Amino acid sequence: MKNFTPKINRRLAAVTIVYWALLTYMIAALLWWFIALVKQNDTLTAVQLQQISGTVQNSATLQPTAQQLIQKQQRKRVQYIAEGLTFLALIVVGAVYVYRATRRQIRASVQQQNFMMAVTHELKTPIAVTQLNLETLQKRKLEPAQQEKMIASTLQEANRLNMLCNNILLASQLDSKAYKESRIEINFSDLVEGCIDTFKRHYPARVVAEQIEASLYLDGETLLLQMLVNNLLENAHKYAPQETDIKVVLAQAGNFVTLEVIDSGKGIPDTEKAKIFEKFYRIGSEATRNTKGTGLGLFLCKKIAQNHNANISVTDNKPQGSKFVVTFNS
Ligand code: ADP
Repeated sequence: MKNFTPKINRRLAAVTIVYWALLTYMIAALLWWFIALVKQNDTLTAVQLQQISGTVQNSATLQPTAQQLIQKQQRKRVQYIAEGLTFLALIVVGAVYVYRATRRQIRASVQQQNFMMAVTHELKTPIAVTQLNLETLQKRKLEPAQQEKMIASTLQEANRLNMLCNNILLASQLDSKAYKESRIEINFSDLVEGCIDTFKRHYPARVVAEQIEASLYLDGETLLLQMLVNNLLENAHKYAPQETDIKVVLAQAGNFVTLEVIDSGKGIPDTEKAKIFEKFYRIGSEATRNTKGTGLGLFLCKKIAQNHNANISVTDNKPQGSKFVVTFNS
């Protein structure tokens, strides 16, 4: 798949160079005008003082006028300094704003391009696999075991497609605030158990260790909470080796219900921990990544958590891996 990272770096470098050149020119011009004005002010005062000393003989009347001129010169200087500093402050504030907005814009547009590439790829693969499997089943008489395997793989692809479509749909609805909420009291323990059962059916080879406290209730939306749990489980599966266990813990402490999804994968570097919850953000570049995804899963988890007055965070699992923790204020 094409990689946009060198392109973004080149664009960012170009923007940075042009930006610094313009900013330096503006500040230098401001400084030049300030020096020119101060010099002009000094010259004007000197000429006026000379004129006065040439025309007026009486030193008693000369003294206050010269003093007035010097005071006027100083007032002007203070005025130039104040105006210069105001302009400088405006330029700096504007420059910082423009710089940050431009960088954000470039990043967003590149992430969007990456997302479009990832989505196209993500859509094509399950469709191609499903088509191939169905054609094989139609044309050949297979052994029941082989048939079973093919059906299971087709179902897995259909499930991935379904989850991808749900994620895209929900992200756009939550983003545009078009999502209609309908909250009810939910047995969250049953909901989590249900998600784990479905997950185990999809990935029978993966061991999931559960520690679920029974009958924990939350006010919320079933579909959204299922998506939250499913996304965390899918990620644990995607980013941790097949032979490692996934642990799910659900417990209540005081007013808080805490859900933990723990894996023993390679973990998430500290510098990436906040970024992974951003929309379309994926660690690494398209060239180095070997996992499928769109960068929407954790963005949705965060939105859903916020929607339910909950907090989501990630820490390191010991000795290795990631621990995603969602804390609901019940
Ligand atoms: P996707 O999985 O589609 O890339 P997500 O929003 O779900 O998007 O995750 C964002 C990024 O966070 C992933 O690309 C991955 O690099 C990282 N990540 C998420 N979950 C885990 C995990 N359990 N272990 C390691 N890295 C993870």
